[in-house]
Amino acid sequence: MIKKTCSFCNNLLIDVKKIVIGFKVFICEFCVKLCSKIMNNDIDNLTQREFNIPTPKEIRSMLNKHIIGQNKTKKIISVSVYNHYNKMFKLNNSNIEISKSNILLLGETGSGKTLIAKTIAKFLNVPFTIVDATSLTEAGYVGEDVENIIYRLLQSCNFNVQKAQMGIVYIDEIDKIAKRNDNNYSRDVSGEGVQQALLKIIEGTITNVPPRGGKKFPNQEFISVDTKDILFIFGGAFNNINTFSGSNLGFKKKNKDLEITPNDLINFGLIPEFVGRISIISHLKPLNIDNLKKILYKPKNSIIKQYKAMFMINNIELIFKKDAIEYVAKKAFKLRLGARGLRYILEKYFVKLTYFLSDKKVSKVIINKLSLRSKKMINLTYIKTDV
Ligand code: ADP
Repeated sequence: MIKKTCSFCNNLLIDVKKIVIGFKVFICEFCVKLCSKIMNNDIDNLTQREFNIPTPKEIRSMLNKHIIGQNKTKKIISVSVYNHYNKMFKLNNSNIEISKSNILLLGETGSGKTLIAKTIAKFLNVPFTIVDATSLTEAGYVGEDVENIIYRLLQSCNFNVQKAQMGIVYIDEIDKIAKRNDNNYSRDVSGEGVQQALLKIIEGTITNVPPRGGKKFPNQEFISVDTKDILFIFGGAFNNINTFSGSNLGFKKKNKDLEITPNDLINFGLIPEFVGRISIISHLKPLNIDNLKKILYKPKNSIIKQYKAMFMINNIELIFKKDAIEYVAKKAFKLRLGARGLRYILEKYFVKLTYFLSDKKVSKVIINKLSLRSKKMINLTYIKTDV
C-alpha cells in the first residue's frame, strides 16, 4: 500500500485522525486548522506577510464610518498606527533601532478619544485594553500596579503572549497623574510616581506579569511580556493647559485647533521623561451641535440605529423626526458632556417611553421635538397595530 501524505505539510496521514480528500490531494487536520486561522485573520502565529497592514487611507476611511468630526486626529492617528505596525513587522529583525511611537489624544470628555482607540484595535484585530490612569499606583502602594495593564491585555486575548505583544493599550485620564506644584496633596506625589512607573513599559521592556494579576509573591511563576511593540495611546482632557501660543483649553478658546507642544505638557505637570516617550500629540476639538446631530444617526452603530433595532425586535417601527434630532443635539451641547450627553438624554426618555408603550399594541412610533419635551407622553404619535 502506498503511504499517503498531506499535500500541504507532507506528514504521513496515518498519524492524524481526520483527513480531507480532494481531487488527487489530501489535507491533514493540522493544516485545516492553520488555514482556518489565516482565513480568520487571526494574528496568532502569523508572520509579517500574513498580517495585512491597512494603509493610512484605509484606516482613515474605516474611522470615518464610526467617528464624526475629528478629521485632523483621524488623519494623524491613521498614519501613526500604520507606521507603528509597519515598523514592527518590517524592521523588527533588522539592525535599525525602532523608537516607540506612543500617542497622546487631548480633548474634553465625550469627544471620541476612547472610541478612536477602540475602533482601530477592533479593525486591526489586535488585543485592546482600557486603563484609568487614576487607578494606577507606584509599586508597593495600594492600588493597581502598572504590570496589571499588561495582565489585562493578556486577559483580552486569552493569555496569548505573542498576540498581547502587538496589542493596543488606551490609558485614560493621563492628565490626572500630572504633578502639581500648586498644592501638597499626596496624590500629586504618587502621580509623579505613577508616571515614573509607566516609563519602562511604554518605552519597551520585558515585564513579568504574575499569572493571576495583582501583587507579586515570591516563588510565583511569571508570564514574560515584551512591551516594545505594544502601542500606547493616552487620553486626557487637560483642562486649562497653557499652550506656548498663550491660548489655553479653557472654556472660550476650545473650538480652535490647538498646537500643543511637549513643553506645554511638561509645564502642565507631566515629567520630561514621560513626555519624551510620546511622539504624537493630537487635539480633538469639542463636538459642535452639527457633530452631535450626526453622531445620533450616522455612525454604523449610532444611538438611533440601536434604538430602532431594539424596537424592531417587537415589530415596532421607530421614526425620529429631524426636529427631534436637533432638539437632542442642542440639549446635549448644553450639558457639555460631549456625545455622552446624547445617550444620557435619550436613555431617560426611552425608559419613560418603553414603560408607556408596554401595555399597548403599536406598530409605529414617531418621535418629534414635541414628544421629547412633553413630560407625560401627551404629544407622542404612534400607530396601533390593526388587530
Ligand atoms: P472620550 O473622549 O471621553 O474618551 P468616548 O470616545 O468614550 O469619549 O465617547 C463616548 C461615546 O460617545 C462613544 O462611545 C460614542 O458613542 C460617542 N462619541 C463620542 N465622540 C464621538 C465621535 N466623534 N463620533 C461618534 N461618536 C462619538
